[in-house]
Amino acid sequence: MLIRGGRVVDPSQGMDAVLDVLLADGRVARVGEGIDAPEGAETVDASGLVVAPGLIDVHVHLREPGQEHKETIRSGARAAAAGGFTAVVAMPNTDPPIDSPAAVGFVRAAGLRADGARVYPSGCITMGQAGEQLTEFGELIGAGAVCVTDDGRPVSSAGMMRMALEYAQTFDLTVAVHAEELTLSRGGSMNEGIIATRLGLTGIPNASEDVMIARDLMLAELTGGRLHIQHVATRGGVELIRAAKERGVRVTAEGSPHHFTLTDEAVDSYRTNAKMNPPLRSEADRDAVRQGVRDGTLDVIATDHAPHHYDEKEQAFEDAPNGIVGLETALGLAYTELVETGLIDLATLVERMSCQPARALSLPGGTLREGSPADVTIFDPRVEWTVNPKSFLSMSRNTPFAGRVVRCRAVRTVVGGATVWSA
Ligand SMILES: [Zn+2]
Repeated sequence: MLIRGGRVVDPSQGMDAVLDVLLADGRVARVGEGIDAPEGAETVDASGLVVAPGLIDVHVHLREPGQEHKETIRSGARAAAAGGFTAVVAMPNTDPPIDSPAAVGFVRAAGLRADGARVYPSGCITMGQAGEQLTEFGELIGAGAVCVTDDGRPVSSAGMMRMALEYAQTFDLTVAVHAEELTLSRGGSMNEGIIATRLGLTGIPNASEDVMIARDLMLAELTGGRLHIQHVATRGGVELIRAAKERGVRVTAEGSPHHFTLTDEAVDSYRTNAKMNPPLRSEADRDAVRQGVRDGTLDVIATDHAPHHYDEKEQAFEDAPNGIVGLETALGLAYTELVETGLIDLATLVERMSCQPARALSLPGGTLREGSPADVTIFDPRVEWTVNPKSFLSMSRNTPFAGRVVRCRAVRTVVGGATVWSA
């Protein structure tokens, strides 16, 4: 495939110019000016469009095994491709949880058949995510796991977390964490503050997240382990990570589109489609997440794509499950909220959604260097569109962004040199 005349934005090699990209045998064969199409090659006209290394989402819930009415590995991989993602990392908090090599192998095999974005499995840190016994990291990696995480739950014991970070170093493995001190969040269902008081809901204080981030940064510093902090939502969290990075702690972190776009006002009127964990917080927190993405404290934009069935979100606010779908809105929200506002440039957007996610978990991709996988996202930054959940390829529709007008959309997603989605 020859992608001709697009604006090639590849921060991994400091590239931003109108060029041609030639893909052959599943690899990037050449990037340059005036490349002639080899005989029989498909030619794609990308003039006026941006050609970037494929977007990578390191935090998605695909619900299989166990909750296939919300999403399957196949539907999730196809939704990802429609959102411009060429690879996603599937979280292991399925039913049963992915805590054995056989379970990792199941996700990997289903991903290979999915006909969408590449699906990389992750494995649990502890057996059954119960926080009591570490999984066999080496065996999980052997089966294809790219990181370990108990996402959805914290590792409550500091001693257990220390052991995980030490053990993971044997394999240069990243330990990804959902930072929450459960005795502070007390089963709360939204941000602690005026709106929670008005709605009569139990609030989760920022400290619930900050305390755990502080602890895990200290443990990463103590052990020298590779830590990745998922979905950072507080100003305190961003500041702690920034300071830790300055000290040389090996930490990467995520900012999510909903956390840099919305505040807890979105929850008003008990809107369960804005219920998530960590919760939407104050304007100061939202702005801190934006600044974190801007200056690279939050290296990675990740969606925390969390599909739920309509009926489950229709329950009373306290009973409704946490999470929103995000794969098909992420690029539009990130571009509209961060690039259009002048906070970051296009290259930084590609950095946060492709290069850095690849680096954080040592995944292939995140670059258009010759010889790297032919994973490419072609997007149109000018196109304006309205979020319509009915058109999602995801099996679920739980989004607080329905009806929102955004700019920028993927028009073609190429994985291993083959088009897996086109507008
Ligand atoms: Zn989480």
